[in-house]
Amino acid sequence: MNEYLNNLKRIEFVVTMGCTGRCKHCSEGSHNFGGEHIDGDIAAKAIAEVCMYYDIESLMTFGGEPLLYPDTVCCIHRAAALAGIPERELITNGFFSRNSGKIKEVADMITESGVNRLLLSVDAFHQETIPIEPVEFFADCIKSSGVHIELSPAWLVSTESDNPYNTKTRKLLE
Ligand code: SF4
Repeated sequence: MNEYLNNLKRIEFVVTMGCTGRCKHCSEGSHNFGGEHIDGDIAAKAIAEVCMYYDIESLMTFGGEPLLYPDTVCCIHRAAALAGIPERELITNGFFSRNSGKIKEVADMITESGVNRLLLSVDAFHQETIPIEPVEFFADCIKSSGVHIELSPAWLVSTESDNPYNTKTRKLLE
């Protein structure tokens, strides 16, 4: 046990800094990471070890765009399910391929891996560089698989604020 981590309840993994988007509001830098991502097997081992000592309540994977590396994401979530972590979350912009077969395959992998809450980033900022059609198809695949899915938009000022960005976001959410 690490004496400075007595109340450890959550684990988060930045799967990659690489991304298919180039959002204005992004805090993750340039995304020029040339295919680098974390090692899923090492992450899975770390999860098993941490869960031997701590009562972890939730785990999240994000990026960059984590689904550029679905094998890594699913390896992490399988380990989390096996270790008994109850909340297993994934945040994605939903755009990792334009190929509907590939999108369906990744949605099935996510379902099988035990992700039980998927947050989908859809808003005026993301959709400046990310096409909505493959994102919508991915959302439909996840929805029909039974995995809980939520839209997770970024609002300018507040959800109630009237400005051109929020107007576009509301249209996209519809
Ligand atoms: S999708 Fe997320 S990580 Fe990628 S550029 Fe947009 S805000 Fe940044």
